[in-house]
Amino acid sequence: MNEIEEQEWDAETYREWMEIVTRGRGRRLGWVSSSSAPLPWWFSLVSDFTTLPSSQRLPGTQSAVHFSAICINVPHHLSYLLRLFLSAGGKLLKARLPTDVGLAGALQAAVALAGDTSIFVNATGLGAKTLVQDRSMYPIKGQTVLVKGEAESATTLVDVDRDTSVDDETTKVILEGCKELAPELLGGDGEFEVLSVQCGLRPAREGGPRVEKEVFEGGVKLVHSYGHAGAG
Ligand SMILES: Cc1cc2nc3c(=O)[nH]c(=O)nc-3n(C[C@H](O)[C@H](O)[C@H](O)COP(=O)(O)OP(=O)(O)OC[C@H]3O[C@@H](n4cnc5c(N)ncnc54)[C@H](O)[C@@H]3O)c2cc1C
Repeated sequence: MNEIEEQEWDAETYREWMEIVTRGRGRRLGWVSSSSAPLPWWFSLVSDFTTLPSSQRLPGTQSAVHFSAICINVPHHLSYLLRLFLSAGGKLLKARLPTDVGLAGALQAAVALAGDTSIFVNATGLGAKTLVQDRSMYPIKGQTVLVKGEAESATTLVDVDRDTSVDDETTKVILEGCKELAPELLGGDGEFEVLSVQCGLRPAREGGPRVEKEVFEGGVKLVHSYGHAGAG
């Protein structure tokens, strides 16, 4: 997958989500990014893109830009997509596909479950490492902190690691880093009220995501779509 194709996905996704926001189903955010010199490739795509003068930048930053971004509540968005799917006649089945019978064997199991279906999508994320034996898959650990207030206080830690336990030191670093960015969420004691801390693994792949079609015996088609890393 090359960078241009990935940029096209990002552009299409941004347009789709802005459309959802316009229809009143989502929330638009003014967003400031502070490491964007030279101009990022997406500067002409996003709404309200401006470069901030030094008087409006955080201390210590050399450049900053402002643009409209979208705040997505992922569980809500996924339920919305599921409702669209079901209302279009889709059926939801939950099952774990075997990983010790090769991809063709796993696909056979999927065919047996799904019945009269000829196209499948392999969106198994890190599971592709065993399901497809794709050795280029690797996890990138991330941690987020949810604080009381209007927004989720970012952010994530990048690290190649399979351990999903919360790291208290990382929580401290995240909260300290966010104090300057979101002072309006601080309580009277100058601290955030932490609601939850969570950790997960992003499904990354050397060489970028794999999005391609494969055709199996009997004409069953499989579209691979995994390895999306931090750009889910
Ligand atoms: C802390 C953190 C913060 C993030 N923040 C952002 C963000 O702000 N914006 C963003 O765009 N992305 C973000 N991401 C990345 C995003 O979560 C991922 O890119 C996205 O979830 C990938 O989606 P996916 O469907 O490809 O894989 P997954 O979400 O990993 O889904 C794979 C699914 O396949 C199933 N599966 C695997 N093997 C099998 C099997 N053998 N049989 C049946 N099912 C199987 C798994 O159970 C799972 O449900 C973040 C990730 C983390 C960890």
